[in-house]
Amino acid sequence: MTYDCIIIGGGIAGLQASILLGRYKRKVLVIDSNNGRSNRCREYNNILGFEKGVSGMFLREAGRKQAEVYGISFLEEKVTHVHKDKKEFIVHTQFGGSFAGRTLLLATGIKDNIPPFPGLEPCLGLSVYICPDCDGYEVKDKKTIVMGSGDKGANMALALLYWSSDITYINNNGQRISGKIKKKLKKAAIPVEKKRIRQIIQEEGIFHGVLLTDGGLIEGEKAFAAFGGNTVHSELAKTLGAKTFKNNHLKTDPHTKMTSVNNLWAAGDITAHSELVTVAMGEGAQAAIHIHKSLFQLK
Ligand SMILES: Cc1cc2nc3c(=O)[nH]c(=O)nc-3n(C[C@H](O)[C@H](O)[C@H](O)COP(=O)(O)OP(=O)(O)OC[C@H]3O[C@@H](n4cnc5c(N)ncnc54)[C@H](O)[C@@H]3O)c2cc1C
Repeated sequence: MTYDCIIIGGGIAGLQASILLGRYKRKVLVIDSNNGRSNRCREYNNILGFEKGVSGMFLREAGRKQAEVYGISFLEEKVTHVHKDKKEFIVHTQFGGSFAGRTLLLATGIKDNIPPFPGLEPCLGLSVYICPDCDGYEVKDKKTIVMGSGDKGANMALALLYWSSDITYINNNGQRISGKIKKKLKKAAIPVEKKRIRQIIQEEGIFHGVLLTDGGLIEGEKAFAAFGGNTVHSELAKTLGAKTFKNNHLKTDPHTKMTSVNNLWAAGDITAHSELVTVAMGEGAQAAIHIHKSLFQLK
């Protein structure tokens, strides 16, 4: 059987696209490894209609249920490689499955480089954040700790001054901070701690502080992580010849979301945009509309 579209990645962008394609009565398979950013974020606070916040897992479960109403199929597995065979895309999965699709949508997202400090994971999105555009507001007038590395963390600490004047920077691996940025930190009176982080002190996802390897404790109400070095999951697209920017995000047509490869589409954090849920939803929807249109041209 050949699917009208195979969607790789069943996070926010992939699910939103699948709902639209289902409503277009298209045969769609979503293959998802279930470990995206939307699995990690315990609370989104900037989405229309969710004044009290909503978790990534809630959106994922609700999205899947909604897509299944329209007959969308799901497979929980990792896609290991993809190739084009005449007019079809052939998608291979971790445990030996292979599936054919007339079109392919990549919605594989990115992976944040956040060290696995004990206690950190339950706080993500609830009291420890990564994106000031999403969550700068959450640290408004709060005692805030930035855990990071070198200039990346230092720049985050400086950016957060817009929301709070009480910022401490833990430069976890003591990586070099450039002279210009050091001066700015000094001018803003942001203390810089160079000791390593042992553990996050938290209770049910509510951050209380950071325990350092020398036994020292830095207390705080909120925290940000900024270590740099995120991975963009554009590997599969590259094997098909899709063009990327220098930072590995995929280039897409701004109108249709098609990549530089015919009938290969991309949506969500894997493309170059603001890395927000609402944008991922928008891109998923936009791609779905143009995938549906393009299917009329394919025999
Ligand atoms: C801690 C944290 C807090 C955040 N806070 C906010 C916020 O407050 N507001 C906001 O708007 N955004 C926030 N974001 C960003 C938001 O989560 C992302 O913008 C959104 O999840 C992007 O959706 P996506 O579908 O592109 O990627 P994802 O939701 O990451 O989904 C990608 C999916 O692809 C799957 N996948 C990847 N590779 C493969 C493969 N080879 N085979 C099969 N499946 C694969 C993954 O398992 C995953 O399920 C936050 C992110 C994090 C990590």
